[in-house]
Amino acid sequence: MQGRPTPKPWIEAIHAYVPGKARGADGRALIKLSANENPLGTSPAAIAAFAEATGAARYPDPDAAALREAIGAVHGIDAGRIVCGTGSDELLNLAAQAYAGPDDEVLFSRFSFSVYDIAARRCGATPVEAPDRDYATDVDALLAAVTGRTRVVFVANPNNPTGTCLPKAEIARLHAGLPGDVLFVLDQAYAEYLTEGEDDGGLDLAAAHANVLVTRTFSKIYGLAGERIGWATGAPELIASLNRIRGPFNVTNHGQAAATAALADQDFVRRSREHNAVELARFEAAMTALGNHGVRPVPGKANFSLVLFEGALTAVAALGALAEGGYAVRHLPGQGLPHALRITIGTAEQMDDIARIIRKSAEQAG
Ligand code: PMP
Repeated sequence: MQGRPTPKPWIEAIHAYVPGKARGADGRALIKLSANENPLGTSPAAIAAFAEATGAARYPDPDAAALREAIGAVHGIDAGRIVCGTGSDELLNLAAQAYAGPDDEVLFSRFSFSVYDIAARRCGATPVEAPDRDYATDVDALLAAVTGRTRVVFVANPNNPTGTCLPKAEIARLHAGLPGDVLFVLDQAYAEYLTEGEDDGGLDLAAAHANVLVTRTFSKIYGLAGERIGWATGAPELIASLNRIRGPFNVTNHGQAAATAALADQDFVRRSREHNAVELARFEAAMTALGNHGVRPVPGKANFSLVLFEGALTAVAALGALAEGGYAVRHLPGQGLPHALRITIGTAEQMDDIARIIRKSAEQAG
């Protein structure tokens, strides 16, 4: 036999997604604050529904009908305008696949979610990065980067890994400036962490316009990252195109049951949001107090904090000190952030401990 299969060149150009780790370089188990999971765990109601769900021998409902009805009821959306995915990751990939291909461009901001680059490349499209504005999404830079070949624009709001969030008026301005035939994917994985008055209006845009797809997830505030469930909403034509190409049974029986129950426990969601708001503010204040050591947080709105190390203490040294202290956080040198650490908001005790470790390291470094 001669030869061997060769992957497509655009597939070979992909840098595989690097997941947040739970172990140190020496293999020691660490407290994992590297993947933006919920420190309060999962709603007890969702755990109970998960345990009671039957049917490992049977395929799940291919349309996740009960779950889509429940999502629709919470958000005031017709279930026919919702599609569920194996995490919102699947839906981001499907959106790129359905609307972009070779010779097309997929546009997103510098320092945004790394899956956008992968989603663009896997369908042979060209990923285009617009410059950020002090770590935040820059609407003018995105609009300036639109060309006749742009087919999809991805914006995470709040953004990962920076935590920054564009206000409603900026999201509306971006949408208004995009040609109608460009798909605007607004990734709201962290939207539930926003407090009163901070909503970016994405769901209203998706309800009113044919070119807006909003994605959400059960992985963050709903504490179901392990079950891999996301959803998207938009015009029926957008939803139909994603339904054509998604896996037919892409959300498991247990996942559908747990997510439906999690939606009914909005008290857990509220407690998670309140915990996050308090601890994020406390942690940002602790990092701001280290300004004379060149340490500063990027003001964020999600369930993590991006901390910049611009003085004697480097991000690599801080990463090492945190690992020594028992914590895994995220260093993203491959995303142009060698000088930063993204730290998921954990319990109050964990955040005190982390702030103490960073302060001590900063003082020792000079
Ligand atoms: N979008 C953003 C901005 C994220 O940070 C994440 C999770 N890291 C996702 C989407 C994907 O989440 P999931 O596939 O678990 O829904």
